[in-house]
Amino acid sequence: MNQNNANPSANLPPSFTNVIRQSKLFDGVKPGYYLAELEKCHLFEAAPNDLLITVGKENKNTYFVLSGTLYIHMEKSDSPPIRHVGEGETVGELSLLGETKATAFVVVQTPSTLLMVPREVMWRLIRRSAIIAQNLLFILTDWIISDNERFLDRSREVEDLKGLSQQDGLTGLLNRRMLDNTLNRVYSRSQMCDKPFSVIMCDVDHFKAYNDQHGHKGGDCALVALADVLKEAVRPLDFVGRYGGEEFTIILPDTSLEAALVVAERLRKEVENRNIFHVDGTPLSSITLSLGIATSAPDSSVEQLIEQADQRLYQAKHGGRNRCCSG
Ligand code: GH3
Ligand code: MG
Ligand code: MG
Repeated sequence: MNQNNANPSANLPPSFTNVIRQSKLFDGVKPGYYLAELEKCHLFEAAPNDLLITVGKENKNTYFVLSGTLYIHMEKSDSPPIRHVGEGETVGELSLLGETKATAFVVVQTPSTLLMVPREVMWRLIRRSAIIAQNLLFILTDWIISDNERFLDRSREVEDLKGLSQQDGLTGLLNRRMLDNTLNRVYSRSQMCDKPFSVIMCDVDHFKAYNDQHGHKGGDCALVALADVLKEAVRPLDFVGRYGGEEFTIILPDTSLEAALVVAERLRKEVENRNIFHVDGTPLSSITLSLGIATSAPDSSVEQLIEQADQRLYQAKHGGRNRCCSG
């Protein structure tokens, strides 16, 4: 066929043939290559909520949108749409790639005029024109890129949720659940390698009075500042978590009682010297910590270790507070 003298479609009104000419799929392709084929395709009107493609079902057609809008949905046909397909765009091209079942729902959003192009016709068009094949590659690449972006967004969301489920909301430290997991992990490793590890339990002194003086929000600011000191003061391989309320736990792998006492004393001094500010910048009074330190023994359990660190913490309290006790 002489493509320059191609006869515009008898069935398709000129407004639609214009849409087709200007589409991505036929960009740069002379109408003689495709119009006659498209004229033979089924032209139909679709109403809002009509379901064109269903997840899990085989789809043998590409739909060309001549007017109107379609929505693409992933999980369910009424879940929030991930993309819309408008005039001059196509949907269902993946059906060309064999017997794959549809992976998305395609639902009509506004009254639409659609051209249903069967798989065989699409293949004939591809074989006839390298430009159509190239355009289709670009369209499919766009779909793949947007799928990948959505997948990456999802993975980030999962990572964020994982982070949230491991962190204490106020301080960003390990939460109690993660603290318990970590303790058990470090304990097993220490048993396996036959190396001791240490635990520091610390509790803010007279924190009830601090809250009474500065308000609960002021108390929160002090806990956040304290968490920062603890995070900054330990080695990267150590773990800091919020045991509950104004009580914190530090896990020091491969650390003897003497070395842990040095760490605890450093923490105590740094907390005492830390300036604390309210969110509005008003200076608040500083806080002090009482700390109890215990080190694993070959025959002790995690519970016994925590119990011992706790007892020493209370010894530090009874000894006058703002101090460390390791035995
Ligand atoms: P001690 O020196 O014996 O530890 O005295 P304390 O006042 O610190 O101990 P107590 O157990 O009587 O009080 C703990 C206080 O810590 C009471 C509670 O309201 C406060 N607290 C616990 N969690 C939070 C928190 O997330 N934010 C604030 N602002 N206060 C908290
Ligand atoms: Mg307490
Ligand atoms: Mg306290």
